[in-house]
Amino acid sequence: MKKLRILVAVLCFVWLFPGNGQAATNIKIFLDGNQVSLPSGVNAELISNKVMIPIRVVSEELGYSVGWEQKTKTVTIIQDKKVIKMVAGQKTATVDGSKINLDIAPVIKKGTTLVPIRFVAEAMGMKVSWNNQTKSVYLVSANSGSGGGTPQPPAGGNETDLTQVNGISFTDSKLMIATSGGAKPSAFTMTSPNRIVVDIPNAEFSSLFEGTQALDLTRSVAGQIVVDGYPGVEKVRYSLFSESPSTVRVVVDLSKAMTYKLSTSAAGLITVTINTSGGETTPPSTVKKTIVIDAGHGNQDPGTIGITGKKEKDFNLSLALKIEQLLKKESSIKVIMTRNDDNFLKLAERVSLANKAKADLFLSIHANSGPASATGSETYYNRANSKSLATTVHKYLVQAAGLKDRGVKTGNFAVIRDTTMPAILLEVGFLSNKNDEAALFNETFQNRVAEGVVKGMKEYLGVK
Ligand SMILES: [Zn+2]
Repeated sequence: MKKLRILVAVLCFVWLFPGNGQAATNIKIFLDGNQVSLPSGVNAELISNKVMIPIRVVSEELGYSVGWEQKTKTVTIIQDKKVIKMVAGQKTATVDGSKINLDIAPVIKKGTTLVPIRFVAEAMGMKVSWNNQTKSVYLVSANSGSGGGTPQPPAGGNETDLTQVNGISFTDSKLMIATSGGAKPSAFTMTSPNRIVVDIPNAEFSSLFEGTQALDLTRSVAGQIVVDGYPGVEKVRYSLFSESPSTVRVVVDLSKAMTYKLSTSAAGLITVTINTSGGETTPPSTVKKTIVIDAGHGNQDPGTIGITGKKEKDFNLSLALKIEQLLKKESSIKVIMTRNDDNFLKLAERVSLANKAKADLFLSIHANSGPASATGSETYYNRANSKSLATTVHKYLVQAAGLKDRGVKTGNFAVIRDTTMPAILLEVGFLSNKNDEAALFNETFQNRVAEGVVKGMKEYLGVK
């Protein structure tokens, strides 16, 4: 009993001073199901609720090449052709030269440099999950033969094929839950206090949830979003409600009774439309949604130059104009173009155009460049309110383009950072890759991608 009390006191201390971060228990790391044995005296640590590991573990146990430059305090981690650079004390890192925001900067403690394990592992293409009960990190490598990198259930769990909850957001009187699909959610209301409860059976929070790049204990199992600007809606809470069966519960706290409509799209986006006027049913929205389409670069700024000399600005514009044509057919959508010819706008001009228009959605179109072998489509977002849009549109983009799925990523691009509405940036393919370049400048490909992207945006906005 006394022992228990001491343990409780220690846990409280860690809870109150997470910044002081010495974990009360040993953190275990599993790689493809096998426990990684840490050298004696070397420990993973919890700092601000993130699991941090010494760079020595990255090289010796995970097998990556690790370099350390004392002068600039820069850690370089290399595996195959992937290069991660991080600087102690700095919250921006680069992966293959692209800037990424970190939740937590690498730190130097007692001469040892510690880096966030989730960021490093995910950047290297691994799936990461956390078991809070056993304080264990599970890493699953892409080539572990576990069915294309699906996360393995934590040891002790027996769930398989769980629906992954990737993101939760609340905008425009709508609760949106982005999932990997296959979920059969149910919703009901409760009183005193008034709330709408959504249960997603056979589901768990994915390692990508909310775009956290480091392990975050509070967010991996529970958290909340404070809602502003929707009278009667106070906040959204979410948690892993039950572990067997694994059920994710999302609760919308209301200040009065309200009705709602629950729908699930084929792509796995669960939408709960709340009737904030409190009537019987929600009438279909008659207010027009404004979409800003931004064709990247233009005029004197060609963007990247393709392997046969084709210019990114021309692809961006061509696809943007096709999307515009499709959106113009939608009676409930108003489309605004940042440019509709070979014109140049500064990034800040693109941003202020969208912000002034009070747009509901911002989509920036780009094409990528990298090593000749790099191929595939990526979707970037920056702010948490853009995550659901990113996952929804990305699914359709990948389907339509048929190129490699490089995933949804966070990126620090001005047009998606400084806009205020949900905003994403598409890197449709690599102009530095022969096959991608040919595809991107193919008329049929562009038509297909335009249709896919429009489908995704309509689904996100709830436009039928
Ligand atoms: Zn570009």
